Amino acid sequence: MVKLIAIGVDGGTLSIIKDLANKGELPAFKKIMQNGSYGKLRSLNPPVTCPLWKSYSTGKNYAKLGSYGWIDVDLEEKRMRVNTSKHFRKYTEIWDYAGDAGLKSGVINMSLSFPPQKIDGFFISGNAPSDEASYTYPKSLKEEITKKHNYKVSKSKLKMWIETPELVKETMEVIKSRFDVAKAKVNDVDFMQIIAYRTDAVMHFMWQSDFMRDVYKLIDKEIGELMDAAGKDCDFVIMSDHGFRTLDWIFYSNNWLRERGYLVEKKNAGDIFNRLGISRDLLFKITNALHLTKIFKKLVPKSTLKSIKSWHGEIGGADTMYIIDWDKSKIIGQSAGAFYINREGKEKQELIDQLVKELRELKNPATGEKVIGDIVFKKDIYNGEFISTAPDLIGEPRDKVEINGSLGPKGLFSNEHHWQATHALNGMFFLYGPSFKNVKEEGKASLLDIMPTVLHAMGQAIPTDVDGKVLEEYFVNKKSVAFRDPLPEKDETVTSTEKDSITPD
Ligand SMILES: [Zn+2]
Repeated sequence: MVKLIAIGVDGGTLSIIKDLANKGELPAFKKIMQNGSYGKLRSLNPPVTCPLWKSYSTGKNYAKLGSYGWIDVDLEEKRMRVNTSKHFRKYTEIWDYAGDAGLKSGVINMSLSFPPQKIDGFFISGNAPSDEASYTYPKSLKEEITKKHNYKVSKSKLKMWIETPELVKETMEVIKSRFDVAKAKVNDVDFMQIIAYRTDAVMHFMWQSDFMRDVYKLIDKEIGELMDAAGKDCDFVIMSDHGFRTLDWIFYSNNWLRERGYLVEKKNAGDIFNRLGISRDLLFKITNALHLTKIFKKLVPKSTLKSIKSWHGEIGGADTMYIIDWDKSKIIGQSAGAFYINREGKEKQELIDQLVKELRELKNPATGEKVIGDIVFKKDIYNGEFISTAPDLIGEPRDKVEINGSLGPKGLFSNEHHWQATHALNGMFFLYGPSFKNVKEEGKASLLDIMPTVLHAMGQAIPTDVDGKVLEEYFVNKKSVAFRDPLPEKDETVTSTEKDSITPD
């Protein structure tokens, strides 16, 4: 019964798959490559998991979703905004259009989708806060998948990988359980969506290791079994949100902006602790030992706590908002090369020109190499109702460099970090099944094209508000593409007492 299965592999990288398939280690991918179509898939800029999977499922660019990364700089409200499921709740996705056409969907492990969506079919959130949370629709599905398939909410946070070797074993179990559910349910639905996320952490921390290759082999084995379970009348669309590449150096863009006077730190209450050399970690060690943490947290304002530096002297993530002077700072950076200009009019343009010039000249003194490759501007890469909140420009990191928005004493460059690899703008796609031709690495496919391509393969019309286009050149039958009015935005008032976990699993 199933017509199409879409499989997401977070950070899936074409060169790794080609290499392993050529060695005969990925029989399912080999079959797909010999009989179907595949190629590089252009991601969006900056290539970050949030909001990439939502750009995929909606077919919309960042400026229509109003999100440009896990953390957005909100110049108006003078804060860093962490994106959660709630932000994306109202946007219509592939399964909403499938449902509108009377087709049933099964969604397994979709990120930024907690609590689960009530769709015609079933839905398993990909970022539930804990095993105790109600993360499936229908609710009763949770008991079934935990009993039958040992389905668990992954507790992995990226930083845990540094010290937790047992995550290696858990990773295999987590990925397998997602596919086990897919295999068991494959004939209950018309469209199925499954995403494997752990691949991202494995590539960040264990790049080109035997374990990384074992994870790809597991996914291949599971896809092979899913193909057998689905039968020959089913189409397969496999894609990644972004690719991966080797990493040596991290460039701290906000430290650099601070050094050049563009970013100003404010005098803050945490300074007294910082000057005494008391880190946030040490402080909580002391208050924990005295059983005073609860009282301490009540007495000391959050902004003070957040502006006390961690043991390695850094303020990262959204906490930089507590130490940035939002009025005096003219430029504020974010991870993956985003820069926001905090001035208007003529002054803004002068700052952009100056920043572009300085980024182009910027070299890593340790290697003598330039840091920034292409510089792209918001009007050229985004369109939509939220474009005013977009970063003004993205400086794309060059080979072996990543850009981090933390503030701290580390200087401008560091090669003492735990990441061995980082995101790349080119991901991958594979199209296989009765609808698709056998074409290799042709054309220029974008992640935004996958949603309309999936709908077209299922015989559905394409909503007129999506940004991608149907990849017609890969279809066996050139049936003309039909269009339809977009569905209204979804009800965002769905509430949950639990906060979603930011990291998908
Ligand atoms: Zn990642």
